[in-house]
Amino acid sequence: RRMTAQRVLLDQAAELIRDVDGPIIDLGLGNGRTFDHLCALFPDRAVFAFDNFIQSALTVLPPAERMVMGDIRETLPFALPRLGARAALIHNDLGSADAVGNAATAAWLAPAIEAVARDAALVVTSFLIPFTKSMALPLPDSVKPGRYHLIRLGN
Ligand code: SAM
Repeated sequence: RRMTAQRVLLDQAAELIRDVDGPIIDLGLGNGRTFDHLCALFPDRAVFAFDNFIQSALTVLPPAERMVMGDIRETLPFALPRLGARAALIHNDLGSADAVGNAATAAWLAPAIEAVARDAALVVTSFLIPFTKSMALPLPDSVKPGRYHLIRLGN
């Protein structure tokens, strides 16, 4: 159900940012399923993946210049030169079942994402993140509130 919600919201985000320029960021490559989906949704954009180790199949491994290795807490805030432009969509799947751990991650993730996101960028995230300025967008009926989140940055 979590993966279905993720997929539904990424599909919706793709519609919403159709006319908004900027690369796509996937936080947490994992086995590459989401990265593969993002590449299919955005064939004409650069999709960057971040993780601290590789566990995906070679067939979905991003090209080296779009795979940012290391602790995201250290890599993401300084990734703008690599991205080439501020990101239009950021997907965060760093969470686990540990709500306290997720809240701790969210605290450093908020400024790190704001450092590389464009104005009005969308964030699709598995847990809430305390951005300075953001607005939760309505979820489709098929996504249970709290399961996954669709956020627009800015006022
Ligand atoms: N969406 C992915 C997929 O399609 O398979 C699943 C992501 S998995 C739930 C979370 C990933 O985030 C793991 O691969 C883990 O290594 C990575 N991760 C978690 N915290 C991280 C951090 N601080 N820095 C870098 N990678 C991290």
